[in-house]
Amino acid sequence: PMQPYDDDNIFARILRGEIPARRVYEDDHALAFHDINPLAPSHILVIPKGRYVSWDDFSARASDSEIAGFVRAVGKVARDAGLVAAGYRALANVGGHAGQEVPHLHVHVFGGRPLGPMLA
Ligand code: 5GP
Repeated sequence: PMQPYDDDNIFARILRGEIPARRVYEDDHALAFHDINPLAPSHILVIPKGRYVSWDDFSARASDSEIAGFVRAVGKVARDAGLVAAGYRALANVGGHAGQEVPHLHVHVFGGRPLGPMLA
């Protein structure tokens, strides 16, 4: 069974404005902000506003409008950051083998340099 959603996770706190983040985009469904420890010249995290632990949780429970809104937000964030022409990577870690650290779904958007092979 999946872990319950923890309202004290760091991204829940960012959503509530309790801790700062370098926000780049927000709409009804999603918030995007710069990763605090960037692994590429552009490293943005896009999160849904709803209480979802992971991509697994989100894909199973979110409404069609939440899913559509979130997917569109990820695309818009990358587009608005100017990453499309050169290319970028969108990635979600799910659970322990993937090294997911924060238990609120986040899609990483990496760009600004060649990103190399998918798994390092
Ligand atoms: P994960 O390993 O869960 O896929 O990625 C978590 C990401 O969140 C990491 O890249 C990490 O640098 C980032 N992160 C962790 N805490 C904070 C924070 O307080 N603010 C921001 N902006 N990013 C964070």
